[in-house]
Amino acid sequence: MFDKIHEHEQVVFCNDDKTGLKAIIAIHDTTLGPALGGCRMQPYKSWEDALEDVLRLSKGMTYKCAAADVDFGGGKAVIVGDPATDKSPELFRAFGQFVESLNGRFYTGTDMGTTTEDFVHSLKETNCIVGVEEEYGGHGDSSVPTALGVMYGIQATSQMIWGTEDLSGRNFSIQGLGKVGEKIALRLIEEGANLYVTDINPQAVDAFLSRAKSMGAAVKAVEEHEIYSADADVFVPCALGGIINDDTIPQLKVKAVAGSANNQLLDIRHGRMLMERDILYAPDYIINAGGLIQVADELYEPNKDRVLRKTRAIYNSLLKVYQQSREEGITTVEAANNYCEQVIQNRRYQNSFFSHMKRPKWAVRT
Ligand code: NAD
Repeated sequence: MFDKIHEHEQVVFCNDDKTGLKAIIAIHDTTLGPALGGCRMQPYKSWEDALEDVLRLSKGMTYKCAAADVDFGGGKAVIVGDPATDKSPELFRAFGQFVESLNGRFYTGTDMGTTTEDFVHSLKETNCIVGVEEEYGGHGDSSVPTALGVMYGIQATSQMIWGTEDLSGRNFSIQGLGKVGEKIALRLIEEGANLYVTDINPQAVDAFLSRAKSMGAAVKAVEEHEIYSADADVFVPCALGGIINDDTIPQLKVKAVAGSANNQLLDIRHGRMLMERDILYAPDYIINAGGLIQVADELYEPNKDRVLRKTRAIYNSLLKVYQQSREEGITTVEAANNYCEQVIQNRRYQNSFFSHMKRPKWAVRT
């Protein structure tokens, strides 16, 4: 793990006895701008587990920001604690003070185990908080641009496989009908697609089925484990990570996997297994970047059109990745990572030219 620490610009351990705060902030790379990444709260078994998670996630954010063309670098924070029992307003204020001590090098917001309400407390100590509700200066529900970006990604995937963006008559299997999955499912119905859906929450399934019925759509609900073998053209994972693995890949009948879930591949080698089965994989951090694009846009006055325009670019980014993967015989994840490393390297070169100039305004945001 200590090898990985040397890949990072800065790692900050945060302890506050009064509030019980134990957290780690990792800044991986600020070539593209100040680090941006959510703050997870989880009852990690040890500091080592927390450190491993934050190092991995912050590096992932560097790539995600590069792919989404936002003026941020990669960072992440983890709070060690049980979200159900260990939260308090004081704890999140203390966390805000640590974020503030980084003087604009790190921006954060919600992630697993934390909510926008938690960060309203942090906002009292620092302005480096993004993604809160509109009444607190945020830009609102990020699942809207996330779902839209996934739809552009599905169209790009369709273009790559079938030479058309037309989704009518195609079959999609959707795992998870939450904030993002439901929006994608409704858009696919509007496009004339047929759906298999599943969710561990029966109410979410029932609500969706009655909505789909009123739209005259062809939708079949299946059991949780049946979604992998559904007779679909595209699998759209919108729930958990790690669902593309040794058990599920042999079950897939689809030609593509394109959905919003984070960390879909259990392991990087599963990208190659998909390729060997001729299943096109849309790298998750590219296709699900719509929410990040909206959050990053909070540096400026709200402008939904700008967010939508940048989200639309997911279509071309994915096509480039697909083409590079095909030309070079590498997986789409390898192609995506190469593309991001190139973006960062180019910016390093430009930064070395302009290093005599002042850093842009976000560096001194008050
Ligand atoms: P959500 O919590 O609103 O929805 C997730 C849904 O998945 C829930 O309805 C849940 O019941 C269901 N689910 C959980 N386990 C399941 C299982 N085993 N099988 C079937 N369904 C299951 O979350 P969301 O905001 O819609 O996000 C969905 C995914 O997309 C997550 O992986 C998230 O990390 C990722 N993502 C979300 C955003 C965003 O803007 N919300 C941005 C990027 C990535």
